[in-house]
Amino acid sequence: MTAQLDEKVEPIFQEVLARNPGETEFHQAVREVLESLGPVLVKNPEFTHHKIIERICEPERQIIFRVPWQDDKNQVQINRGFRVEFNSALGPYKGGLRFHPSVYLGIIKFLGFEQIFKNSLTGLPIGGGKGGSDFDPKGKSDDEIMRFCQSFMTELYRHLGEYTDVPAGDIGVGGREIGYMFGQYKRITNRYEAGILTGKGLDWGGSLVRTEATGYGAVFFVDEMLKARKDSFEGKVCTVSGSGNVAIYTTEKINQLGGKVVACSDSNGYIYDEKGIDLELVQQLKEVERRRIKDYTGYRKHAKYVAKGNIWEVPCQVAMPSATQNEINGKDAALLVKNGCIAVGEGANMPTTPEGVKVFLEAGIAYGPGKAANAGGVATSALEMQQNASRDSWDFEYTEKRLQQIMKNIHQNCYETALEYGAPGNYVVGANIAGFIKVANAMVAMGVI
Ligand code: GLU
Repeated sequence: MTAQLDEKVEPIFQEVLARNPGETEFHQAVREVLESLGPVLVKNPEFTHHKIIERICEPERQIIFRVPWQDDKNQVQINRGFRVEFNSALGPYKGGLRFHPSVYLGIIKFLGFEQIFKNSLTGLPIGGGKGGSDFDPKGKSDDEIMRFCQSFMTELYRHLGEYTDVPAGDIGVGGREIGYMFGQYKRITNRYEAGILTGKGLDWGGSLVRTEATGYGAVFFVDEMLKARKDSFEGKVCTVSGSGNVAIYTTEKINQLGGKVVACSDSNGYIYDEKGIDLELVQQLKEVERRRIKDYTGYRKHAKYVAKGNIWEVPCQVAMPSATQNEINGKDAALLVKNGCIAVGEGANMPTTPEGVKVFLEAGIAYGPGKAANAGGVATSALEMQQNASRDSWDFEYTEKRLQQIMKNIHQNCYETALEYGAPGNYVVGANIAGFIKVANAMVAMGVI
């Protein structure tokens, strides 16, 4: 672990460890926020009095359920479903659903915890939650995906509502899955309630820009960090880990701003294309044909595929981790810095280990932690909720402008908060404190609930 915890905060963290054994990712996410909060308690003694940190670390509600379904061979399969409704001080629980074999309660709780502060930073009225399943979508037929989603929603539906809990996508959950889940919700309840899920299709209540939002938003955030250093994306060599939704739209926006993405990856290896990643090809392979990234070299002969390779060994000026948690460790971070990396923007949730974060902060590079840098996805989900509530739909240009302004505001809020707390340029401190204070004030105002 990295920095010392403040003496008031240390016992709270020990209590979190004792009450949530074995949930290492949750411990990591909590510790990372708590490391920033010592000075906040000094300035705001009422937060200690009201036990705000203790309360924030305990989810308001945790739902765990059985998800039985039949595969194409008529075999019964059983998965586990989760929804952790973490904090509703600022609005209905909001956060995605992750379908991945690594999912267990500790992963959902880390994601839900992050989501509280991320959603607070957006400035929009959304609380924090997260859900998902240990279901592995890889290699499943479309029919199997549908049957799984229907079974998952058959339990989840009773917990949802536009004023209660509004899930969306995350790893393994995109437009197709949201469609099947929305359909099942509608069938069970006999109600067309667009506001119970976000990331919907454009013909049935979805928002323009939602698909692009996490990637675009992460690039807007890095662009703001670069501007604060009188720099820009123009001519920058970039690497983007992953090749899913976040990685694809991160790459698209970097290209639009004049940068060049030379590498992307999946869980098997990475592609290096010195001429710049061919985005259309990646989209065709990953989004349309659902194939692996190694097939890229079949179409771009000069590109190199490195099986089991570590993408962070590719020299770059800007790195955008957009795959999953803990994908950059201390060594990777040191290598990036040594190779000339000046900015890191996290499109994924908690992609850098505490040791890696320490390396970036000590090197003084522009480091945008996920809860700030990738907030554009959920922010645009909140814009989708606004459109649903007013039965309206906005055009692409306007929605993208709103997203860009939100990312600008988040950057400014983090930047100024870091400055106010004596840590100029430290977006970790800025994001944690700014995100926390808004939730804490709301909780104090609402009493002991
Ligand atoms: N899963 C995304 C995130 O990590 C988006 C959540 C949402 O749109 O509700 O923030």
